[in-house]
Amino acid sequence: MDSIYVSFEKCLKKHYAMGAFNFFNLESLQAILQAGEECKMPVICSISESAIQYIGLNTAVMMFETLSQNKKYPAYLHLDHGRSYEICKKAIDAGFDSVMIDGSSLSFDENVKLTKKVVNYANKQGVFVEGEIGVLAGNEDNVNNLESRYSNPEEVKKFVELTKVDSVAVAIGTSHGAYKFKYDQKLRIDILSEIEKLLPKFPIVLHGASTVDKKTIKQINIRGGKLKNAKGVDKNELMIICKDHNVCKVNVDTDIRLVFIASLRQTLRSSPKEINPRYFLSEAKESMKTIIAEKIFLFKGLKN
Ligand SMILES: [Zn+2]
Repeated sequence: MDSIYVSFEKCLKKHYAMGAFNFFNLESLQAILQAGEECKMPVICSISESAIQYIGLNTAVMMFETLSQNKKYPAYLHLDHGRSYEICKKAIDAGFDSVMIDGSSLSFDENVKLTKKVVNYANKQGVFVEGEIGVLAGNEDNVNNLESRYSNPEEVKKFVELTKVDSVAVAIGTSHGAYKFKYDQKLRIDILSEIEKLLPKFPIVLHGASTVDKKTIKQINIRGGKLKNAKGVDKNELMIICKDHNVCKVNVDTDIRLVFIASLRQTLRSSPKEINPRYFLSEAKESMKTIIAEKIFLFKGLKN
C-alpha cells in the first residue's frame, strides 16, 4: 500500500488531486471508504477538532482502523484544522497518518514557529503535515472568519522553506461553509500559478471547495430547510484547477453535510411510519457515497 507521501507524489506527477472528506459518524466514514474502493482511488478521511469532541479521539481511530482494514486502495486518517501543537501531538500519538496545523490566524512568525514545532514532532513518526497560510472566509466547525486574506506567494514560499511542511493550504478565494462568494471574492488562479512558479512540484491544498449543488439546496428548502443564497465553487473551474495546477488535496465537508441533511429530510417525510433509524441512515449513507464518488472523479479530471 502506498504511503501518504507516495500518494501525494503520484498526484503531482499525474496531475490530479485526492479528495479529503470530513466524517462525523460511522455512516459518513463508511461512505468515504466505500467510495474510495469503488472508484479505485486513495481517499483521505478527515476529522475536525469538533468532530473529535463528538466522536472521541480513540473511537475515531478505532473506527478508521477497523473499517479500512483489508482495503485494496489507500485510505489515510487526517486531522483537519488542528489549532494547537497539543491536538496535533494527540492525533499523531493516536495513529493518524497526517495532521493539519492551522496557524493561519497567527502572525507570520508565530505561524512559522507553531508549524515548525508540529513538523519536528510529526516527521519523527513519519506523519505528514499540512500547514496553512492566508485566511479563508466562512464558517466550518470551530473555524470562523469573516474576511479572507489571499495568500501572498512570496510568503508561502518563505513559510514552506522555514517550516519544512509537506503540503500547504493556500487562500485563493474559496471559503468554508455553504455561503461562498458573499464577501465579493473570486478565485485567484493567478495566485496559484505564482505560488507554483516559486515552489515547483510542491503539494498545494485547497479548502472550502464544496460546490453546494443547487438541486440539493432546493431539496432541503422544499422540505422545511432554510438555506437562503447558498453558493459554492464552480465544478468546471475546480476540475481545471486539479488538472492544471499542483493542487493535490481538495477538502470536502459542506457538500457531504448537505446531501446527508437532504436525504434525511426526504426519507423522514416520505416514510412517516418507519421507525427503524437504520433505514434513514442507510439512505443518507448512499447519498454521501454518491457525492463522494462524484468528487473523486472530478478531482481526477473526469466528469461523470
Ligand atoms: Zn478547511
